This record gives sequence, C-alpha cells and structure tokens, in this order.
Amino acid sequence: MQPTRREMLGSLGALATAGGWIALNAGEAAAQPAGGALPAAKEYVLPPLPYAYDALEPYIDKETMMLHHDKHEAAYVKGVNEAIAGLAAARQSGKPEDIAKVRALTDSLAFNGSGVILHDIFWPNMKKGGGGEPKGDLARYVARDFGSFSGFQAQFNEAGLKVQGSGWAILAWEPLAARLVVLGAEKHQNVTMWGCVPLLVLDVWEHAYYLKYQNKRADYIQAFGKVVNWDNVAERLNGAMKLTA
Ligand code: MN
Repeated sequence: MQPTRREMLGSLGALATAGGWIALNAGEAAAQPAGGALPAAKEYVLPPLPYAYDALEPYIDKETMMLHHDKHEAAYVKGVNEAIAGLAAARQSGKPEDIAKVRALTDSLAFNGSGVILHDIFWPNMKKGGGGEPKGDLARYVARDFGSFSGFQAQFNEAGLKVQGSGWAILAWEPLAARLVVLGAEKHQNVTMWGCVPLLVLDVWEHAYYLKYQNKRADYIQAFGKVVNWDNVAERLNGAMKLTA
C-alpha cells in the first residue's frame, strides 16, 4: 500500500513544507523528488527600511534615503525580476534570436541583482546611534586579519575612496582561507571575488551622498563610520562562518 502524502511529508520533515509535488516533466506521471517538493523561487521585492528615513540624520539625510531606497533600489528590484523573466522567456523560446538575448539579460541580472542584494545588506548595516568599534569575535577577527581596527578602517575607507566611478567598499568573509577581506566593487558587479560573503558594505555611488556631501566622498565615508551597525555585521559573520564549518 502506498504511503499517504501526509505520511511521506511527515517522514521528510521540514524539507517538505511546501504544498504539492512538482511535475518535472509534463505528460509523464508527476515525479516525486526524493527531497520532497521544492518551494517556488522567490520574486525579488523591495523591503521597507529597518528604520525611519531620517533615522541616520545628520550623517545621512532623509531626502537621500527616500530617493535611494524608494527610487534607486526599486528600479533594481524591477530590473532583476525583468531579467529573470526575460531569461525564462529566452530559454522557453529556444530560438537563436531569443537565446542571443542571454548576454544582455545576464548583464542585467548581474547589475540589478547585485544592486538589490548589496542594498539589502547596506540598509541594516547602519542604524541610528551606530558607529564606534566592533565587539567580541568580530573585533578579534578584524584585529587578526587587519592588524587593528584602525588598520581596517584605513584600508576600508581607502578602498571606498578609490573605487573607479561608482561602486562599493565591501568587508567580506572569504570562506576558502577563512578570513576577512576588504574588496571594492566597481559598478555593482565588477572586480568582485566570487565566494566571498559580504558582511559590511558601503554604497559609494554618488546618489548615496551627493545631495549632502557633493564631491566630498571621503567625508561621506567618514560619516558612514558613525552609523555602522556592528551588531548586524557580527550577526552576518556568524552566519557566514557556518559556511566553513
Ligand atoms: Mn545605491
């Protein structure tokens, strides 16, 4: 006697919480993958800021935050979802003229997808009353891998200052050597190091600071140091380190 669906779901535990089996191949009997039904991949969405638009005043002004979150990131969210849909359409068509769109769509996926991901890290990387220095294990790793907190700050700020054009400075956990690194990202997707886990990211696109700081990116980078949410960075480190366990 076949086990009931409920019995199978029960035996599969938490993996099988999504409803329904996936028919992997239309026209054949519905396949039942050993791991249970996969949940649908998520649409990218624009999450609300984790604080008020003016929470980071006077370091980052309310109007910049409103434009940055509501307009710029919203455009990245729209763009990445359109890239995913466009790639699906190109795959389904299979015609050479549609497959030829993959390069442009892949560029769009990388650009808009990186924009969404980095901003979603950036917002909770900051908080009202932030700044100061990291504590606990994060502080010990910063000291181990950069010599000192001031050494880290000098390297991070210089990396942000010297990004060519628009981009980001990124503190990341590099899981291969199990160490912290500071990287720059030019635009969103270039000059990156695959496999690293971003822990602290600083948006140095002009839209992040130009209304208040004009050409003084260095002053903006200094101000960022006043709003960093190190507890959030430490949480991210804990999560990233599980990858190397
Ligand atoms: Mn931005």
